[in-house]
Amino acid sequence: MTSPSHEAGRPLPQRAAGAVRGYAADPITRRVAAVVTLGAALGAVVVVVLPGRASVLAGVGVPAAWLVPGLVVLTCLAEITVVRLRHGEAVEELSLYEAALIIDVLLLPPRDALLAAVAGLVLASVVQRRPAVKALFNLGTYTAAVSVLILLAQLVGGAGGALTVRVLAGVLIGTLAFTMVNLCCLAQILAVINGVPAWSIVRDEARLSVSMALGTVATGLTTTAVALHAPVLLPFMAMPAIAVTYAYRAAAREADERARSSALLRLSEALAGREDVIRRFLVLVREAFDAEVGVIVLSGSDVALSVEADEPSAVRTGPPPAYLAGLVEADAPVQLTENLPAGLRHAVVIPVEGGGGRFGAAAFASRGRRRMSTGDVTLLASLGNALAVAIRGAEHLERLTEERSKLQAVVEQSAEGIMVVDGAGLVQVWNQALGEMAGIPAAEATGRPLSALLEVPADEERAGLLPVDEETPRVATELTIRRPDGEERRLRLAHSAIFAAGELVRDVVVISDLTREYRTERLKSDFIAMVSHELRTPLTPILGYVDLLRTRGERMTPQKRADALALIGDRAAHLSRLVEDLLLASRVGDRPDEAGLQVAVATHDLAAIVRQAVGDLSSGRVVLTGCDEEWPARCDPGRTVQVLTNLIGNGLKYSAEDRTVEVSLRRAAGMLHVDVSDHGRGIPADSLEKVFEKFHRVEDPMTMSTSGTGLGLFIARRLARAMGGDVTLQSRISVGSVFTLSLPPPD
Ligand code: ADP
Repeated sequence: MTSPSHEAGRPLPQRAAGAVRGYAADPITRRVAAVVTLGAALGAVVVVVLPGRASVLAGVGVPAAWLVPGLVVLTCLAEITVVRLRHGEAVEELSLYEAALIIDVLLLPPRDALLAAVAGLVLASVVQRRPAVKALFNLGTYTAAVSVLILLAQLVGGAGGALTVRVLAGVLIGTLAFTMVNLCCLAQILAVINGVPAWSIVRDEARLSVSMALGTVATGLTTTAVALHAPVLLPFMAMPAIAVTYAYRAAAREADERARSSALLRLSEALAGREDVIRRFLVLVREAFDAEVGVIVLSGSDVALSVEADEPSAVRTGPPPAYLAGLVEADAPVQLTENLPAGLRHAVVIPVEGGGGRFGAAAFASRGRRRMSTGDVTLLASLGNALAVAIRGAEHLERLTEERSKLQAVVEQSAEGIMVVDGAGLVQVWNQALGEMAGIPAAEATGRPLSALLEVPADEERAGLLPVDEETPRVATELTIRRPDGEERRLRLAHSAIFAAGELVRDVVVISDLTREYRTERLKSDFIAMVSHELRTPLTPILGYVDLLRTRGERMTPQKRADALALIGDRAAHLSRLVEDLLLASRVGDRPDEAGLQVAVATHDLAAIVRQAVGDLSSGRVVLTGCDEEWPARCDPGRTVQVLTNLIGNGLKYSAEDRTVEVSLRRAAGMLHVDVSDHGRGIPADSLEKVFEKFHRVEDPMTMSTSGTGLGLFIARRLARAMGGDVTLQSRISVGSVFTLSLPPPD
């Protein structure tokens, strides 16, 4: 019995067996039970209906005592002998069971034929350690189908002796019926698994199954005929079958090789891709070597990744298989044939090692007992090596990415501005701090020419932007830039340039914002200029008059002398006020609650204080209103006069000589207010608060159109606040300003 034969109804596929094994699908369990019941019922019919019938080819002269056991063994061998056939993309595993079955039916009486067919199947299931449910399903299916075959062969063919046309017809019809019963039973299970109607499976498969069944019948019949009438020809009978088997095998092997090459090609792409390497390795190598199971265990890990033929792309995690214990660190491939899980007969374990690293081991296990060829083992080992190199590469890449992102974080988080400009002057890196300094976010700056980003005021050196050359690649420069919002910033740029063959490749620039320091520096020198100017102004007339009195005093009229002394006294008083202001300002910090200003607050008539301040200034331009009645307020009278003289003095100083300054009193929001209004040049909106800062002056300190220290309003507000009040300001350019001193009323 050597002819390749197609199994008319294929046995239960492994996936279904898995589902049944786990009782995951109730419908399957129910259908298996139904098939088994059907098999038992039809078997019983054979036994009951055809109890003492002779075999179809009765009287062949072979003693039943050894014919039955002989055919049981033959049936078992035929079931185990598997011919793998390619059917399109799928590989069909076909046993020679049906051909042996025909021999059983032809040579044995009905009951014995059924016994031989069923016993041969059971024996094969035991030998192959098939999962119980799968074996049960096959047993049920075949018992039912064989019973139908026996019944029809007996009924149509009768019990004769020779191979008559009637016998042939009986066997033929019986085989067709066998095929259909088998296919219908299988379709029940496949329908549940694939979610398609059973009849559509029967329809799709019927033609193939029937045509293969005919081949089987022919093989079985011919073999029987030759064995009975010219046994010497039996070996010749086998030859064409052997040739066809080998031809099939060669084609199958070629197809397997093609499938393996394609899987290996995909594997090489997967290994180069560096992503998801281990999972893809497992899936593709299992496929390439047609293993039942592929497993990877990484060194030091108690988790294994595995993939099985049933679900070839589902990688599962679980505990490492017991047979890998002690082999994870093995440094050469190992072939195993023992201690493997049920259904697996052979495994190859390869180290995943290479690229200077050891990552663990991979194992690929198959059902077949055949050891893997040395060539395959070598190939597998080098794939394990390639996987290790890929893992190393992926780790390297990950480290590189991590380093890069760390570096990026440093650049981004740096408080200093950092930029990288390429040889063409285009910005490559522009960190957040620089974005804030220059008022241009990184997204807008990257890729643009530096010269278009940093606007350097005309008086600054334009070459200052990239002042490096090959001799001086490290230079630090300072320049002032104008931001898009108009604000100017003073920056220090520390360049570190890289040159190659005389060409600038890259300039890495660290930028610090010097604006604050620069302003302080400028403020200091402005302050010195201002103080010397302010001190010199009253000193000049004092010195002049002192000199006049010394040289010509004797000849001066008493009136002239008195005038000169009054002027000297006035300038000296101004000087003393100036010095006092400077001392006060140096004592008072920037925070309003800081100590330094002493005030003696009590209830006083604010109207009288206002009158005194106006009187002290003795200017004809001051117009006083609403100061006739008493306005009691809580204040320090001396300090209040000081504040008011400053406010009224400013009103006079910063308006034209022919304009008046109005001073009036009012009560509002529970406070007393003295408004000092002028019709002068006004104060720009952005300076309304700044004028109260120490040394802030609206005028350009270089031109000094009016003299002053920028301390008056600072001190005035501090004094007012110290007395529980405030100085506030409203002003419009070219219209005038209203300064208001507010003080609390008596308790
Ligand atoms: P100083 O008058 O000595 O410069 P202040 O502190 O009194 O100092 O004033 C600060 C600045 O506020 C002045 O330099 C001036 O530019 C502006 N300022 C003050 N009062 C007026 C006003 N009435 N009109 C216009 N500008 C004023």
